[in-house]
Amino acid sequence: MSRFMDKKYASLEEYVPGEQPKDMQYIKLNTNESPFPPSPKVLEAINSEEINKLELYPDPVCTGLTKRLAETYGVKPENVFIGNGSDEVLNFSFMAFCEDGAAFADITYGFYQVFADLYNIDAKVIPLRADFSIGVEDYLNLNRCIFIANPNAPTGLILPLDCIRKIIESNKDHVVIIDEAYIDFGGESCVQLVNEYDNLLVVQTYSKSRSLAGGRLGYAIGNAELIADLTKIKFSTNPYNINRLTLAAGEASLNDAEYYRNNCRKIIENRRYTTTELVKLGFEVLASCSNFVFARTDRMEGGELYLKLKAKGILVRHFDKERIKDYLRITIGTKEQMTALINTLETIFKEENR
Ligand code: PMP
Repeated sequence: MSRFMDKKYASLEEYVPGEQPKDMQYIKLNTNESPFPPSPKVLEAINSEEINKLELYPDPVCTGLTKRLAETYGVKPENVFIGNGSDEVLNFSFMAFCEDGAAFADITYGFYQVFADLYNIDAKVIPLRADFSIGVEDYLNLNRCIFIANPNAPTGLILPLDCIRKIIESNKDHVVIIDEAYIDFGGESCVQLVNEYDNLLVVQTYSKSRSLAGGRLGYAIGNAELIADLTKIKFSTNPYNINRLTLAAGEASLNDAEYYRNNCRKIIENRRYTTTELVKLGFEVLASCSNFVFARTDRMEGGELYLKLKAKGILVRHFDKERIKDYLRITIGTKEQMTALINTLETIFKEENR
């Protein structure tokens, strides 16, 4: 930290993204990206005509994409906010809705704690139950803004809609933010509830099921007043938050829903295969509704297994954190990638005599 930086950031622990190493070609199962490229329609949309307009600023209110997202989810354009990745939507939500503090699980998306620290927001960290499920009773009448990743990360577990309803209804004076980054891989979305509750904000991303992590595009769906609040924050920080090419890519993606649905079906199928094979190898695997599995084995400690896989060219995610340091979070890729993972695990256990 330079001597010029505001001292209030001295103790800030920043978010550590999954590694993107360039030293060799890895099978990358560590950041929950899609193994499939964007739809051919996206490639067509990012054409030279669009590139030739890059000297002009993009539309700051994202008119076309907002309209198409609204049609896709059966809401009005005023119910849609678009962000530079869902991380930006979450960032703005921490800025906008956490005057009375925030609440989230002890094991969930790590960025929630970072945003809370960044804005000096009082955070109530609620332990998941021993089986890593969310205890609904812990989230009633909290009197603060609530963040729930559903399915949760890194566990992959889903909280059913009736439980979420209870949480929303018992916290009527605070916003409940349901982060549905992984919802297209299983579970029921809360989007259908946004017309019923003015304190529900549903956040989704193009980074996983829509193969656009590199484009940086996320959105929130909620009551028009909440959307207007987020828009106010955006226009006070970065009005042109979505670049032209990403706007075009986002719209084109929505014109090829079948391509993405089909990819999700493949991921779910590969998740089933991976789970079965991991169990055969002696792993415990949580019942994932997302594009990753969370698994542990008595045969080798999580950190050691992560390193051995990396040495053999397979990257997975290991969190050196209480309660979960025995676990690996493994992104579900293509069938070939998952077969390579299983074969490599067998080799490691054989070589190490475990
Ligand atoms: N929410 C959750 C639960 C996530 O795992 C991620 C991905 N790291 C995000 C939000 C952010 O995704 P993005 O900014 O790429 O939309």
